[in-house]
Amino acid sequence: MTAKIISGTDLREAILTEIRGETESLKNKYGKVPGLVTILVGSNPASQSYVSLKIQTAKSLGYKEIQDTCSETISEKDLLDCIESYNNDENIHGILIQLPLPKHIDEKKVLYAVNPDKDVDGFHPVNAGRLMIGGSEVKYPPCTPAGIQELLVRSKIQIDGSEIVVVGRSNIVGKPIAVMLMQKGAGANGTVTVVHTGTKNLDAHCRRADILIAAAGVPGLIQPQWIKPGSCVIDVGVNRVGEKISAKTGKAIAILRGDVDFEKASDIAGSITPVPGGVGPMTIAMLMKNTLRACKYSLGVSS
Ligand code: NAD
Repeated sequence: MTAKIISGTDLREAILTEIRGETESLKNKYGKVPGLVTILVGSNPASQSYVSLKIQTAKSLGYKEIQDTCSETISEKDLLDCIESYNNDENIHGILIQLPLPKHIDEKKVLYAVNPDKDVDGFHPVNAGRLMIGGSEVKYPPCTPAGIQELLVRSKIQIDGSEIVVVGRSNIVGKPIAVMLMQKGAGANGTVTVVHTGTKNLDAHCRRADILIAAAGVPGLIQPQWIKPGSCVIDVGVNRVGEKISAKTGKAIAILRGDVDFEKASDIAGSITPVPGGVGPMTIAMLMKNTLRACKYSLGVSS
């Protein structure tokens, strides 16, 4: 293995330490701390564990946190009323709706009901529009793409002028990261190509990439021979490919694989993120950063 491993776990700790310090200062100066509510509908075990990780992290930073769990059978109207109550709560700065929602609820309607000023996930069309415009218009960059950009910047990967290929065009990863890295400005200014299920010659595009961002959700999609020697590979994919028994707890846990064959790619790339321990930990750190931003906006403190 020759590639440098970009550890999201280590970078997350550095970012959370910075956020903890800022939270302490806000508390001392204004008597306010960031407030985050996570709204979970139902009892999907994966969603429960994501939500509890977010809440535990918020707690560890000194945030006010609320985990609001609604019944699987909650009506759309009651869920919208619940969101409205947090829209009006001045101690809550960030509202996160854990997806997926049950089928009887219109996901779009629910996400769009969140006040854009409290939309720390950055999924509301107002925030998507601001992201497209770029610069100081951006209030809440969506968390996974923001985590990818932060990984690149903090690892001192050359973005300006680089060929960047993004595999995947989803609204939560592929499209926003492409937009963010092509903007004019620091930590961006790349030449971005987005490839997807309609792309011919996926391999040829990937081979040109100085930075290859794989977000297809297909385990092992990126073949080692598609990777440009010395390039930076960011593997966003989190794919459950089986189960194993945890040596620590004795319980069954998911075996996770990325979209890239990590072992083989590590002999070709210059740097690479592991799965798990790469992009995933950064996503939560960016959610915390957005919640801190939301609190600062509400206090009129510049971010
Ligand atoms: P999605 O299914 O919404 O989108 C996948 C995209 O990949 C689509 O646009 C599709 O066109 C493209 N794609 C799929 N198969 C392809 C193929 N064979 N060739 C070319 N393009 C192909 O998924 P998503 O929500 O963007 O998530 C992508 C992956 O990232 C998933 O594994 C998901 O679990 C993971 N993810 C991780 C984090 C994190 O925090 N680490 C966050 C979000 C998503």
